[in-house]
Amino acid sequence: MGLLTGKTALVTGASKGIGRSIALRYAQEGANVAFTYLSSVEKGQALEAELSAFGIKAKGYRSDASKFDEAENLMNQVLADFGSVDILINNAGITKDGLLMRMTEEQWDAVIEVNLKSVFNLTKAALKPMMKAKAGSIINITSVVGLRGNAGQANYAASKSGIIGFTKSVALELGSRNIRSNAVAPGFIETEMTEVLDPKVKAEWESGIPLKRAGKSDDVANACVFLGSDLSTYITGQVLQVDGGMLT
Ligand code: NAP
Repeated sequence: MGLLTGKTALVTGASKGIGRSIALRYAQEGANVAFTYLSSVEKGQALEAELSAFGIKAKGYRSDASKFDEAENLMNQVLADFGSVDILINNAGITKDGLLMRMTEEQWDAVIEVNLKSVFNLTKAALKPMMKAKAGSIINITSVVGLRGNAGQANYAASKSGIIGFTKSVALELGSRNIRSNAVAPGFIETEMTEVLDPKVKAEWESGIPLKRAGKSDDVANACVFLGSDLSTYITGQVLQVDGGMLT
């Protein structure tokens, strides 16, 4: 028996990086996994096969998390295919960095829509099935940047702080329905999103982290296993930092 056996999870943005690790760890722990991708179609299809090898039900859907109607359609399809959604992991995210002085309206809007509006879209869509089941765990991937801000990332920081306010409000509104809502705040995690960094900058970042290393996607995925599982049934409204002690 895995920690998530018998549960169905929906993970947004699982074609690579943290989302992909979450999908794989969930499958390892026995969950059925529905997941989405947008531009990385081949990677999404390959993941479906990889997940199925764990002997669970897995299916990928091409769906833009920032679009309200697409989220509604996605949830209907997932419910038709899987029967329920017990765990929702809002992971899809992008960056469009730049100092505020040079940041365009397009950069602002894109990041808010993909990172923050998506969380509203999918959570709204998940409420009906979770209320019917009288249970649910919603896990939103924020960032330490949402807790402390970051120069050159005003749009990203605003989207990630917004996720924290949303997460806590949903916890307050839906606790009485046994629906839990928590956020995971990764620090510096090695993925394609951070691969573009200068090695010198990376080394500097690492030296400032108490555990003296960048995090791995699996470090974040393991926190999501905990929050999706029955090990955390009395935990809601929290922000769990997975940052090696970076922000303490
Ligand atoms: P990544 O490697 O760039 O992966 C992002 C994923 O999101 C991809 O699967 C991408 O799918 C998907 N995605 C992007 N826009 C989407 C949309 N509109 N609809 C559906 N899916 C979409 O990024 P990552 O580093 O794994 O980051 C995952 C999450 O962790 C993000 O929310 C990020 O902000 C957060 N985070 C990351 C770090 C870090 O250090 N890496 C730190 C803190 C927080 P396609 O490629 O198919 O478009």
